[in-house]
Amino acid sequence: MKPVKVLRTLYVMLILSAAASSEPAKTPPPDIFLITIDTLRADHVHCYGYTGVATPALDALAKDGVRFTQAFTPSPITNTSHASILTGLLPGSHGVTDFGVPLSVSHPTVAELLKAQNYHTAAFIGAVILDSKSLAPGFDRGFDFYDNFPEHSSTKSRWGRLERRGMDVVERAEDWLSKHPAGPHFVWVHLYDPHDPYEPPMPYSQIYKDHLYDGEIAYADSALAHFIAYLKRNGKYASSVIVTVGDHGEGLGEHHEDTHGIFLYDSTTHVPLIVKLPGPRGAGTVVKAQVRTLDIMPTLLELASASAPQKKDGDSLEPYFDGKSEAARPALGETDYPLRFGWAPLRSVRSDGFKFIEAPRPELYDLPLDPAEMTNKYEPQDGRVQRSRAMLAELRSEEAQLQASSTPAQESALPDPKDKIEEENLLHAAMIAAEDNRPADARKTLEKVLTLDPKSPTALRQLGELELQAGDFVQAAHHLRAAVEVRPDDAAALFHEGQALEKTRDLGVARDALEASLKLVPGQFEARLLLGQVYLGLKDPAAAEDQFEAALLLQPGSVEAQLGLADAQITTGNFAEAAQSLQALSKGQAKNAHLFDLLAKAYSGLGKKTEAQQAATKAKLLSSNK
Ligand SMILES: [Zn+2]
Repeated sequence: MKPVKVLRTLYVMLILSAAASSEPAKTPPPDIFLITIDTLRADHVHCYGYTGVATPALDALAKDGVRFTQAFTPSPITNTSHASILTGLLPGSHGVTDFGVPLSVSHPTVAELLKAQNYHTAAFIGAVILDSKSLAPGFDRGFDFYDNFPEHSSTKSRWGRLERRGMDVVERAEDWLSKHPAGPHFVWVHLYDPHDPYEPPMPYSQIYKDHLYDGEIAYADSALAHFIAYLKRNGKYASSVIVTVGDHGEGLGEHHEDTHGIFLYDSTTHVPLIVKLPGPRGAGTVVKAQVRTLDIMPTLLELASASAPQKKDGDSLEPYFDGKSEAARPALGETDYPLRFGWAPLRSVRSDGFKFIEAPRPELYDLPLDPAEMTNKYEPQDGRVQRSRAMLAELRSEEAQLQASSTPAQESALPDPKDKIEEENLLHAAMIAAEDNRPADARKTLEKVLTLDPKSPTALRQLGELELQAGDFVQAAHHLRAAVEVRPDDAAALFHEGQALEKTRDLGVARDALEASLKLVPGQFEARLLLGQVYLGLKDPAAAEDQFEAALLLQPGSVEAQLGLADAQITTGNFAEAAQSLQALSKGQAKNAHLFDLLAKAYSGLGKKTEAQQAATKAKLLSSNK
């Protein structure tokens, strides 16, 4: 230990002992570790009775802690369910109902509230979908350190760009803990591995070659074991709180759902939940009462002696730890993910041995008789249906107040996701193929979707984007036009259509597509830039100038926008202004052939023959050196 550190440690000890002498002895707040394992079905964990997988780390935590056999997430998708874990709020209350939707500052997170109690906080994520700079804005609130992904990744592989292996994630967390020894700590570790595609590393890929999903679970468990071993080695295990939970399950083909997100059946909502408490408290306890992942946040705050926020949908799990309560808690489910494809969102109530699912064709299941939710017993007059509907209506009015917006009306006019699940499976497979740079597989899969639904806007758009990347601009424009006809408010599809049409030199149509896209979402820099070029091509330099100026407002330093503006100025005969800005720009752009080409034109327009000649020679030289 360095001398400075020894001094600091002594100083801290002095402060602590002074504080201790003036107050009655108080146990210091515990370190808290929240471990979320993505896509983990409760019934695929060994200590939950599944023999197809070895999960020694989870089993050991259950032995040392309280295991909840009936824990449910309110959402089957990652960002939404994690937002519920972090805020203790239902999806409709916290508002993060899709990827990229910011977690509003009006909903305090467990990290913020623990930080206010002098906790040192950090988060380590295993997937880019939880990156706070892109797809999970606001999730980093309250964390001293939030381990985002690099903004620009040179690799084409999933690893490091879209995903981190569990071992990578825990090592980063361990490294941070070693560098930040002062506690108490609140550390969130997110292990993404069991999420598809199922590609566990060796030896799990070999041992579990016929059931790779389990292989990913076994691998994630080994990463968890690494982390627990680190905590034990560093004397942090015994006194800490460790909550381990699945964010949602996985369809695995049940109800024809391959993955998760669309439905609210137990296959994707029933998750493992294990709470290890400081010391021997609760060790080996099994709680069979129904609880919710919403209850995690209030529990952690209570264990840290911090007060909970006023608005919360969950409640502390404390009453279960010492067997004081066996009361089942109603578990509500929500998924707006189907809306992304133009299908009806779903709501559910799981309570008193039944599950009610509100859908265009509603469902009711008797869970003790029918745990796989196969036989729909829905009758509108059934008391359980009516009670559930009343609960959902009350919730909806609360959430509408909270979000100052209401759920779109006429949702029941949308297709029932039950009729669309095959399409969703294919769309998901195509997305993974595109992410993994297998465009041919993606194309084939999307074409299959179009045989099921020739007007699927998602398939048409993705197919158009694939053709755009592949350089088949005519096909790209064709598919994107079809996508826009189904969904005229899709700004991204319109922008891509504009890109394709600019390439095929259908400039008038490209202009219309880009204008329409920018009318929907005005702040698109790339679209402004492209529209400027299109106007130049259409010999409308005044309109081009407007676009380049708007682009410069969005990105003031953009060289491309400045060159575009100068180009437009030259076309209108404003040589002086063009020459001036190009000269200034040339200092940092000594190798930009296009710049010197424009400069030559500007000088020539001003009658400065020598300078024009010099700039033209330089442009020629630079472009021949390319
Ligand atoms: Zn997830």
